[in-house]
Amino acid sequence: MKHIVILAFAVLAFTATFAQGRTDFPMKPEMTEIWDPEVTVVTPGVTPQDAPSDAIILFNGTNLSQEWLNEAGGEPGWKVTDGCVTVEKGTGTITTKRQFNDFQLHIEWRSPSEVIGESQGRGNSGVFLQGIYELQVLDNYNNRTYRNGQAGSFYKQYPPLVNVCKGPGVWQMYDVIYTAPRFNTNGTYFTPPTVTVLHNGVLVQNHVALRGPTPYVGIPEYFVKPHGAGPIILQDHGNPVSYRNIWIREL
Ligand code: MG
Repeated sequence: MKHIVILAFAVLAFTATFAQGRTDFPMKPEMTEIWDPEVTVVTPGVTPQDAPSDAIILFNGTNLSQEWLNEAGGEPGWKVTDGCVTVEKGTGTITTKRQFNDFQLHIEWRSPSEVIGESQGRGNSGVFLQGIYELQVLDNYNNRTYRNGQAGSFYKQYPPLVNVCKGPGVWQMYDVIYTAPRFNTNGTYFTPPTVTVLHNGVLVQNHVALRGPTPYVGIPEYFVKPHGAGPIILQDHGNPVSYRNIWIREL
């Protein structure tokens, strides 16, 4: 009850302040303290990459069948071994069964230890947010490509702020904070999707506003078909990129 009274005072005080630029009565510290609802307690992982207590585990290293499908809606063709899953060339993308709107995503990935190819041909895969916005996965450790197509980029839209790639065969991680777009009735974005990305703990995308899905050829489309929640999709680009420890928190 005490908290409700204080909150009521705080609302009155704020209203008075913003309406008139001043308050008509002396302010006390507790008038601007907001207690309810209490901020939810979440137990963090022992190390930052461990899933916190409220995360949905999308892949824990043992099986894909619980949370993932192949393109045809069947059992994914990618192989699970040694606690990770690896792209099986030609079997197509894998897609989460669940659909998401706003989220925090953690995903670890590893470029093939055997270095084959160059530029876009080396360790190419990708993480598609809501199924259509690609966060590029690529081996850019001593491998130059166009800057808006390298690891940590939103393909053909935003290059990463820095190149934080670890070498082939070494585990890396992305932490993604994603806010889904909201649409006008005519199909344009009311607010575009916005994304922040940490690559190996370093900021590479700072709350960028995506311009739409990205075609391989052409410029990003501003006008997309309005969409609701979408899955996380991992790309089969023909290279044996591996993934592990994938978890997500809906916001
Ligand atoms: Mg890709």
